[in-house]
Amino acid sequence: MEKITYASLASLDETFHSDFETALHRVRQRIDRGYPLYLNGQWVKKRSAFKNFNPAESAQLLGRFSSGEVVDVARAIAAARNAFSAWRDLNWKERVQHLRRAAELMTQRQFELAAILTLEVGKNRFEAIAEVSESIELILYYAQQLEQNEGFEVSLVKKGREQTKSVLKPYGVWAVVSPFNFPLALATGMAAGALLAGNTVVFKPSSDTPWSGVCLAEIFHEAGLPSGTFNCITGSGAVVGSALLNSGDLDGFVFTGSKEIGFKILTEFRKQHQRPVIAEMGGKNPAIVMPSANLDDAAEGVVRSAFGMGGQKCSACSRVYVHEKIYGDFMQLLVNKTSKLKIGDPAEKDTFLGPLINKSAIKRYDRAVRLGKAEGRLVYGGGALKGKEFKHGFFVSPVIFDKLPQDSKMFQEEFFAPVLPIAKVRSLDEAVRLANKSEYGLTAGIFTNDPGEQKQFFNQIEAGVTYCNRRGGATTGAWPGVQSFGGWGASGSSGKSALGPYYVSQFMREQSQTIVSK
Ligand code: NAD
Repeated sequence: MEKITYASLASLDETFHSDFETALHRVRQRIDRGYPLYLNGQWVKKRSAFKNFNPAESAQLLGRFSSGEVVDVARAIAAARNAFSAWRDLNWKERVQHLRRAAELMTQRQFELAAILTLEVGKNRFEAIAEVSESIELILYYAQQLEQNEGFEVSLVKKGREQTKSVLKPYGVWAVVSPFNFPLALATGMAAGALLAGNTVVFKPSSDTPWSGVCLAEIFHEAGLPSGTFNCITGSGAVVGSALLNSGDLDGFVFTGSKEIGFKILTEFRKQHQRPVIAEMGGKNPAIVMPSANLDDAAEGVVRSAFGMGGQKCSACSRVYVHEKIYGDFMQLLVNKTSKLKIGDPAEKDTFLGPLINKSAIKRYDRAVRLGKAEGRLVYGGGALKGKEFKHGFFVSPVIFDKLPQDSKMFQEEFFAPVLPIAKVRSLDEAVRLANKSEYGLTAGIFTNDPGEQKQFFNQIEAGVTYCNRRGGATTGAWPGVQSFGGWGASGSSGKSALGPYYVSQFMREQSQTIVSK
């Protein structure tokens, strides 16, 4: 099957829609099944299960997923430990082959996986297929890192009879814990990074998106990864997540999710002994709009980043600083574009905005709207959506506020919802100062055609992923090998990025090997 690529994503045609619809029809026919854990190469069904519902139609049961328990986590870690030495000792080229096979299988299932993401996460068709495509590219790009670095073995300078090699080696068994919003891509990326480096994995998907997690286990199983190399334990953060966190038997922990859980893992996992933790966390991503900008591009880029996927991207634009000279014009464009967004069933062809993920997300949205109304001016949205298609799903309307106090929580807290506070500024200095006034530092964007302002922004902005004049997304959108994606400050722990050239090496430690010849 032909892979959907970065380039072909820009022009999805009728063939794509018909393939997606066929896959969606098939996937809908197999909802409401029971799913097992994947442990030591076996499918293990538990008596106790949790239910997974469609967020666009909350009465629709998608599946019943086995509730992993502490004992399952212990078994999975033991299986991964058993499998480690054989996997480590494989030639790195063989590990690459296994992972490439998984990428092929993912390609064969690309429309089915996209349909599952639409039902499980509420992603529109474009977002869903883009995530599958990104997952495939992540495997291929990370595999390439091993090839380009020839398995990370480097001969160092020879000194007399001493010749030393620097060799990067895996740590052992890693926990991989992923969030709900990119359940396939982030799980695939983190697991592929760990596996290619020679580690074995115990993976826990988000309990809001276990289906895509189980699909990943099916793919690794079919790709022929040796038993125990990859294990998947579905269940809650409180039980499965905590069991991983409290296990003294893991050698590393890679996490993507909220700052709250990420910080907990960063502190608690290393309490027992020193082990690596890679944590990618939340964001409060600013966009800046200056007078020389193309305002239509700026408004389009902000709308896409702020409201795409209901603001449920870590890179979502969640505050905007607009120069006073163009404030009125920009706001008019922004409101106009926002009012045209099609909200509804994400499975429909022309839907831009689907539902939020669950009841807690609605509560967070409501809290943000109450706060915005209490402290500032409601510019757009905020009312209940009318229409029977919205009755049974977690749908909300995008909402825009301005005239908020500079120190308002609206500019500080990650709400993970389509809520956008805007502030008027008098200069770029002021905009950058306010943009940097955040504990987070994930993404940031600017719209300006002044080269001096562009330079100042890139010099001074404190964020790991930065963009200028991006109509397709002011602060969102990254692709393996095209944009590295990692956070500064409270947004990320390692100073290195996913999707970037240093990713796989983070799962390895260096050994210096000196041989003295006769
Ligand atoms: P979350 O932190 O609530 O959950 C993430 C994962 O942690 C889930 O699998 C959850 O079950 C697990 N978990 C919960 N409690 C745990 C515990 N005590 N121990 C171990 N694991 C536990 O995040 P979410 O709501 O699923 O995702 C949204 C968050 O993720 C946002 O903050 C978003 O910004 C962030 N995110 C960041 C990136 C990035 O690359 N920086 C990407 C996507 C999402």
